[in-house]
Parts: sequence; C-alpha cells; structure tokens
Amino acid sequence: MAGGGKGGKRGINTQLAHSGNDPHAYFGWVNPPVVHGSTVLFPDAATMKATQVRNADATSRSRVQPYTYATYGSPTTDALCEAVNALEGSAGTILVPSGLAAVTVPLLAFLSAGDHVLIVDTVYYPTRRFADTMLARMGVEVEYYLPEIGADIATLFRDNTKVVFMEAPGSNTFEIQDVPAMTAAAKERGIVTMIDNTWATPLFFKPLDHGVDISIHAATKYPGGHSDVIMGMVSANAATWGQLYNTQVALGTCGAPDDAYLVLRGLRTMGIRLERHQKTTLALARWLEDMAKEPGSIVGDVLYPALESFPGHDLWKRDFCGACGIFSFVIKDGTEAQAHAFLDALELFGLGYSWGGYESLVTHVYLKDRTVSARDHGGEVIRLQIGLEDEIDLRADIERGLAAAKAAG
Ligand SMILES: *Cc1c(COP(=O)(O)O)cnc(C)c1O
Repeated sequence: MAGGGKGGKRGINTQLAHSGNDPHAYFGWVNPPVVHGSTVLFPDAATMKATQVRNADATSRSRVQPYTYATYGSPTTDALCEAVNALEGSAGTILVPSGLAAVTVPLLAFLSAGDHVLIVDTVYYPTRRFADTMLARMGVEVEYYLPEIGADIATLFRDNTKVVFMEAPGSNTFEIQDVPAMTAAAKERGIVTMIDNTWATPLFFKPLDHGVDISIHAATKYPGGHSDVIMGMVSANAATWGQLYNTQVALGTCGAPDDAYLVLRGLRTMGIRLERHQKTTLALARWLEDMAKEPGSIVGDVLYPALESFPGHDLWKRDFCGACGIFSFVIKDGTEAQAHAFLDALELFGLGYSWGGYESLVTHVYLKDRTVSARDHGGEVIRLQIGLEDEIDLRADIERGLAAAKAAG
C-alpha cells in the first residue's frame, strides 16, 4: 500500500515490465516472493509497541519495521500496489477480494446515513444492487443520472451530496461521460468523485489526471488477463487516501497473496495484450458496422467507442488513449430466440460472464435494470469479449452465429 512508483516517465510497456518490484530487496529474484502468512515476528517488545495502532487513524502506524501483520500488507501485495500506483499516479492503492468489493469499499468509506450519492444509470448491475439494497438500508439516498449529463451534473447536487460515482464507458452499452467536466463541478462543491475504470485500464484512461479522486478496477479483467483470478484494486489521490485506507483497515477486506501475485504477473503483459485485443476488436466492430449497412442485414447498431459513428466517440478520442476488447452489437428487430440461436451456434466464443481474459466470450445483454437512461436499441443486444485468437477464426464464428440468428427469425 505504499505510494510512489519508480520510472513514471518511461514508456508504458517499460513501466509494466519494471514497476512494483525491487528484485535486489529479495536476493535478486526477478519476481516478488508469494508470502503466505498471517504473523510477522518482532525483534523485541519496544519495536512491537512502536508499531501498534490504537486509534481510528491507521495511517499513523509507525513504520519502524515494514510489516506487522498480513491484513496490513506483505511484500507480495505491496509489489502490486506500487506497480498500480505508478500506472494510476495515485498516493495509495488497496487490494480487495473482488472487483465488486473495489466498488463497495470506497462507497462505504465516503458515505454515511443521510448522505446523497449520484450514480451513473449505465452502471455495472451489481453496483446498482449494492446501492439499492445496502446503501439504501443504511439511510443513503441513491440517485441515478444520465451518462450524457456532463457539467449539468451540478443541477443534481444537493447540500448532502457526498459522492459522484461514474463508470465510463457504461456497462454493456459503452456510453462515454465527460469526466473532466463532471469532476470540475464536483470539486467546486467538495464532492468526492469515483470511477469504475475497469474497461479502459490505467493504460487507456488515467482518471486521476482528469480530476477523479478514486479509480476502481476489477483486476479480474485485463490486469489478471487469464480468467483465473478474482481481485479488485482501488487507487486514491492524496486527498482521499487516508479515509480509503482507514476504511480498508476497519473492514479487513484485504487481498490475498496468490491473487496479488497473479495480477502482478498479468500486468507485465497487459500492454501487449491490450494492443492485440484492440486491433482485433476494432477490425471486427468495423466489419459488423459495414454489414449493418447492407440491405436486409440483421446487424443493427454497433456499440464501441472507437467507432467514429458512436455517439460518444469525440469525448472518447479526447480523453482516452485506446479501446479494449469488449463491445456490443444489436440484432436488428431480433427476438430472444434469435439471440439464443446466435449464442448457441458459436464454437469459439464461450457463453460466460466476465471479460479481459485471453479467450473470447459472449453474453446476451440484459438492460431492463436501467431507470433514467432506459432506451430501445432496436433489437436484442449481444456483448462480445474479443480474446487473443486469430481474427479470421473469430469472424467465421460470428458469421456462423449470424446465419443461425437469421434462420431463427
Ligand atoms: C467485472 C466487473 C466488476 C466486478 O469484478 P469482479 O471481480 O467480477 O467482482 C466491477 N465493475 C466492472 C465494470 C466489471 O466489469
């Protein structure tokens, strides 16, 4: 959970290869040790006493010896946190057991009974479930806003508004938000801003550079990259770090060493993986978009911010430096039976949740949870996660799916 990575000015792949770990701090081994442990021993009673924290502010913990107990971090978790601090430009990063916990822990850190929170309506569904159930039960007023709202978010501010929670692009439909305009408005009122930045990763969008206080990641996705780990990461600027860290210490929601090791290992190749994901995804999205123009095509809108035709494309181009491997398209005037026929005909795309791994996945998107932003996309929405397979094979698989969907119409 320490701050300040080295080599911040170097190229992104260089940073990914070298940040976070200091081999010579551990006999020269290239990778950090996976420390399995609860207990750290102290050399004497005076050192033991000097590290104790007996008040609510765990940031006051004396660093007379670097480690005291595993819930406060280990060489394995510190290596990952320092690598992420270097990428995000953050004062500190916490690791939590899932991407969902990376959403809930910061919300718990900054909201109390009687507060009001603004959440984008296109948010990841489990975030909405947490807000509508647990935050509501705790007496927090939850309000959803349109992703296109921009600086007008200020019109929704109340005296008790404490947090604006963004996710850009939006879940499944990929609406882009004007993050700098929104954070500027929030800053004027002392409102904390958070963003679920899982889609972009810190490689394609750096929230703290755009005025966001807290950046949230499901490390389960691209940082892990291999569909074999569940972990969340939350990075904070200097102004919010203390409260975030104290909440993590109070809750005890610490990340596990094997998971931290796998995510750090994934980070090393995340840059080159994302380059490949982006290249194949853009090619397939353009191909589907061209197909949509043909008379009688069952392909409708293609929802991917990197496409010039996408409504939020200009904002994406202004603020982001890339697009990842997940997008959606519409089966025009399609039925559920046609959506299912598409899914069932696929041979390479697995029917599964999550994304960010090396393998392609597909889901039939459910959008009925939306309130203020509910709209008709003109058919059934299918989400594709484009993996690292060869484009030509994925194209053939999608053609197979489309033929089956057409036949089921
Ligand atoms: C997957 C995901 C999460 C949750 O991550 P888990 O590790 O699966 O809990 C949170 N936010 C977004 C945008 C996600 O895609």
